[in-house]
Amino acid sequence: MTRIKDVKITCHICGTEYEGSVLMSSNSMTGAPDIKPLACPKCGAPAKQVHPETHSAATTDILTALLKDKNKAVAILCEYSRNDTDVDEWVKMMKERNLNEWEKSNEDFLKDAETNKMESYAGEFKGQAEKIERLKELSESGNLASKIDEIASEAKKCLEEEKSKYQV
Ligand SMILES: [Zn+2]
Repeated sequence: MTRIKDVKITCHICGTEYEGSVLMSSNSMTGAPDIKPLACPKCGAPAKQVHPETHSAATTDILTALLKDKNKAVAILCEYSRNDTDVDEWVKMMKERNLNEWEKSNEDFLKDAETNKMESYAGEFKGQAEKIERLKELSESGNLASKIDEIASEAKKCLEEEKSKYQV
């Protein structure tokens, strides 16, 4: 199914308010409609729609990226932050994330997927279980917090660059 949502955006660079449509999902049979990524009509900065106060589950994206590719984690953290306050908020949420609870709920999802013979989902949850295990190891050795601080300071640099690029 193709779903399009109308959204209101306040530009994080210049404060301009604007409206636009975003593609939530598309039908692979009919192809994706031509919806361009939203950007501010005044300064051209790309719209940022994932915020710490509304998308707490997105810590998963950043933490799992951190395991594989630091630069990717920085890019995601920068994309999900409008300013340094957002970065600090993500840092807090990532450090406070309860890895045991995450592991437990992932195990439940995996069991469900196996019971219902949904193999591709089961594969995904198995992959996720390995990542959670590695995050737990990092956390126990005390290295997770310093890695999070490291990507946070780079994401702040990324935000500064973005600001100087678009500010009018
Ligand atoms: Zn703007």
